[in-house]
Amino acid sequence: MTLRAPIKTTCAYCGVGCGLVATPEGAEGWLVTGDPDHPANAGLLCSKGSALDQTLGLEGRLLSPRIDGEKSNWDKALDLVAEKFTATIKEHGPQSVAFYVSGQLLTEDYYVANKLMKGFIGAANIDTNSRLCMSSSVAGHKRAFGEDIVPGNYEDLDQADLMVLVGSNAAWCHPVLYQRMQAAQEEHGQKMVVIDPRGTATSQGAELHLPIKPGTDVALFNGLFVWLSQQGLVDQSYISDHTTGFEAALEAARVDAQSIDQVADYCGLEIKDLLKFYEMFGATKKVVTAFSQGVNQSSSGTDKVNAIINCHIATGRIGLAGMGPFSLTGQPNAMGGREVGGMANMLAAHMDIDNAAHRDLVQDFWQSPVMADQQGLKAIDLFDAMGRGDIKALWVMGTNPAVSLPDVGKVNEALAKCDFVVVSDIIEQTDTTQHADVLLPAAGWGEKDGTVTNSERRISRQKKFMPLPGEARPDWWIICEVARRMGFGDAFAYDNPAAIFREHAALSGYQNDGQRLFDISALANMDEAAYDNLQPIQWPVTSTHPTGTPRCFPAGGFTKPEGRASFLAVTARPPGDQPDADFPLVLNSGRVRDQWHTMTRTGAVPQLSFHMSEPIVDVSPEDAQNSQLQDGALAKINTRHGQAIARVNVSDHMVAGSIFLPIHWSETNAAQGRVGDLVNAFVDPVSGQPELKHTPATIAPYQAAWHAFLLTKAAPNTAPNIDGIDFWVRAQGDGFALYELAGDTEPLSWSALADQLLGDDDGVELLAYSDAGRGNYRFAQIRDDQLNACLIMGRDHHLLPRSWLMSLVGVEISALDRQSILAGRPAKGADTGAIICSCFSIGLNQITDCLKDGRATNIEEIGKALSAGTNCGSCLPELKEIVAARHPQPA
Ligand code: SF4
Repeated sequence: MTLRAPIKTTCAYCGVGCGLVATPEGAEGWLVTGDPDHPANAGLLCSKGSALDQTLGLEGRLLSPRIDGEKSNWDKALDLVAEKFTATIKEHGPQSVAFYVSGQLLTEDYYVANKLMKGFIGAANIDTNSRLCMSSSVAGHKRAFGEDIVPGNYEDLDQADLMVLVGSNAAWCHPVLYQRMQAAQEEHGQKMVVIDPRGTATSQGAELHLPIKPGTDVALFNGLFVWLSQQGLVDQSYISDHTTGFEAALEAARVDAQSIDQVADYCGLEIKDLLKFYEMFGATKKVVTAFSQGVNQSSSGTDKVNAIINCHIATGRIGLAGMGPFSLTGQPNAMGGREVGGMANMLAAHMDIDNAAHRDLVQDFWQSPVMADQQGLKAIDLFDAMGRGDIKALWVMGTNPAVSLPDVGKVNEALAKCDFVVVSDIIEQTDTTQHADVLLPAAGWGEKDGTVTNSERRISRQKKFMPLPGEARPDWWIICEVARRMGFGDAFAYDNPAAIFREHAALSGYQNDGQRLFDISALANMDEAAYDNLQPIQWPVTSTHPTGTPRCFPAGGFTKPEGRASFLAVTARPPGDQPDADFPLVLNSGRVRDQWHTMTRTGAVPQLSFHMSEPIVDVSPEDAQNSQLQDGALAKINTRHGQAIARVNVSDHMVAGSIFLPIHWSETNAAQGRVGDLVNAFVDPVSGQPELKHTPATIAPYQAAWHAFLLTKAAPNTAPNIDGIDFWVRAQGDGFALYELAGDTEPLSWSALADQLLGDDDGVELLAYSDAGRGNYRFAQIRDDQLNACLIMGRDHHLLPRSWLMSLVGVEISALDRQSILAGRPAKGADTGAIICSCFSIGLNQITDCLKDGRATNIEEIGKALSAGTNCGSCLPELKEIVAARHPQPA
C-alpha cells in the first residue's frame, strides 16, 4: 500500500498561477488549500481555486477512446488519427491539416504538439485559444522589446504606489492579485485607477474610475504620452540611452491629443477626471499599468499595448521595483505556450518563424525532416479556411472552440464540414466533442505531470496526485504516440514529461549567446528527481542567473538591436464594427467571478453555481428604460450574427449605450446563452486577436408567456427537449439540478407540460396545486419523505425563492413543508437570496438581514456573524458594496 502524502501543485485556472497543496482526506479524497510557500499567492486562493477539490469526480468524464461515437481502444484510435493525418498530408499537402490547442495544456504537451506540427508535418497551422486571450500583448511586447517579455513580477504590484488597471476586472478575473493590491492599499496607501467602459467589482474599490468609451484606449494613452512630454515629465536620458523612435511616436500621438479636450471628448470622459489620471501618473514614480482582455480583445489591441508601453519607456518606468507595463495573462499556461512557440506565427523558444536563421537553428536542434517556412493560420483564419474546405483534418486539444470563438455559428458549420475532426479532452459532452470523429480521453488536473508558467514568468510544477481514471492518458503521451505512428518515433521517444522539459530547456539555450532573453538552459540537465522537486522559478534561468530572474530590463538591455526598446507610432482607430440605427448598442463580453471558460469544470461544482446561475445581461438604467426592459425579466439580445436570451440586470455601473454578457454558457447547459453566437469576428491586423468586446447589438424584452423552474434530483445532463421551450438553463446543485425555463406561448395543457418535465416516476407521492385563473402551478414529487423533484410554473418569473426549495433537498420533508409548497408560502427567513459568498453559501438576504438587525455594521462583523468573506475573499468587493449601500460613508 502506498502512503498518500500532501503534494504541492499549481491551480488549473487563471494566469495568476497560484500554488496549491493537495492533502489526502479520507480513503480517497483530497483537500486543496493554498500553498503558503508559493510566491504567487502565499497561501491565498480565490473561490475557483478553493473549490478545485470538488472537481475531482468522474461525472461527465471521457474515459475511453471513441471512434464515430462508439467505444474503441487506444491502438485503433491512435492508428486512425495517424493514418488520416498522414493520408491527408500526402493527398493535399501539409497546409491541409491543423491543430487547435489550449492554454490549459502543460508546457510539455504544448512543446511536442508544436514540434510535431512545425518540424515534422512542416506547416505552422497550430493555433491556440490563447489567440483569444493575450496574442495582442505578445505582439505588443515583440514590437516594443524585440521579444515577448513581461518585464516585472507580482512584487511590483505590491510595491507600486499607483496601480493603473486597464480593461481588467482583476477582482473577479485575477482575484488573488487583486487581494495583493488591496493589501498594498492598506499597507502603504497604494492608489488605484481603473480604466474600463463598465463599472466592476474592481472599479468600485478604485480612487478613480475612467468609464472610457469602448475601444478608445489608444487615444487615452497617447494623450498621456503627449501630456507627460508637455509637462517635461519624460526621462530624456532613459529615452536617449535605451530607446528608439521617440519623436515619431510622439508626433503620431499628437494626432489624437492636440488638447486634453480632444482626448476627453474622444474617450467620452470628463476633462477633470482625465487630467487627474494624467497628474497621478506624472507625479508617481512607482506606477504599474496592468492590462488584460479589455486591451487585448480588440481590433486595435496591439496598438493599445504599445500606447501603454510608450508611456512607461518614455518615463523610464520599467524594469525596476514597483513599476512597469504588466500583461495579466488569462489562462494558467498561456505563458508556457508562448515559450514553446505554440501559436501559428511563432517558432519555439521565442524564435521567429519569419526568420530563416531561427528556422535553421530549430530544425538543426530537432533534426527534423521539414520545417514550416511561413506563418500558419491564426484561429479565425483557420476556421474560415476549414469552412472553405481548405483544412481537411483538425485536432482540437483541451479546448471548446464551438463555444468560445466569435461568430460561432460559422465555426460549428466549419467543424461539421471538416472531413476528419479529432478532439482530445477530459469531458465527453461539449459543444466541440459533438463534431469529433475520434475522441481521445485526456488526463485532467491532478492526474498529469508537467509545468506551467504564470503571468510573471514563473515556472511551477503541476503535479499528479491521483491515478489516471479509465483509459485517460496525458496529452504529451497521446501526441507522441500519434507522431510515432506517423513515422517520427525517434524524435518523440520521451519516457516522461521531464525528458520533454529538458529538451525544451536545452533548445532555449541552443546557440543563444544572449540573443534571446527566454533562456532556461540552466534547467536542461535536471534529472527526474530534480524536475519533480523543481521550485517555482522565474526565467531567465541561466548559468549566470541559476536561481532565476525577478525582473527583466533593469537597465535597458532589450532584445532589440543595440539593446534598445522601440517606441511605436500609433494612432487611435475605431473598432471594426460600429453601432448604427439597427444595432445601436455595444455588446461587451467577459468572465464572471465563479466560472471558468465554458464551465466544463467549474459548472459541475455546486459551490460555484449560484453566484450567477444563468446568463445575465447587464444594462444601464437609461437603456433599460429606452428598451422597456425590467430588472429580472428576460431579454433578447441580437447582433448581425445571432441571438441570445438572458436575464436582465439593470445596473448603475453600466454606461448608457453598452451592455455586457458573460462568456461561459454553451449549448450543453443553456438554450440561446452562448455569447459566441453574437460576437463579430473582426481581428487585430497585427495579432489576429478577435474583437470580443465590441459588437453592435440591440436588446428587447423577451415576451415570455410562461416561466418555470424545475429542481430535480434525477436530472439528465441534457437539454429539456420539449416543444415550446425557448429558454432553458441548467445549474448544478448539491445532489440536484436546477433548470430555469420559459416559453413565449402559453402551454395548451400546463399539467401535460408538467408531466413531460417531471417525467414518470412510479412510487412517488405527488403534490399538485393549480390555479388556472392566476396561472400558478406547483408540483412536487416526494420519495421516501424527501423532495425528489419540484416544478413551479406560472406567468410571472417571480415564482418562489429557489434558495428555499434548494434548502429542502436532502432533508426530511415535514407536513408543514408540504403545506408550504402547496400554498407557495416559504418559511420565514428561508429565502437566502443570490449567493454572495460561495465558500459558505451565504446569500444576499442573509447579509442584508444581518445588517438590518444590527448584528453587523461592517465586513469584519459580517464575517464573524455569518463567516461570509472569511475564506477566499473573492466576495469582499461585493460585501463592501452591500455594506456601503446600507451604511453610506459621509463624503
Ligand atoms: Fe486559481 Fe484563483 Fe489563483 Fe487564479 S487567482 S490561479 S483561479 S486560485
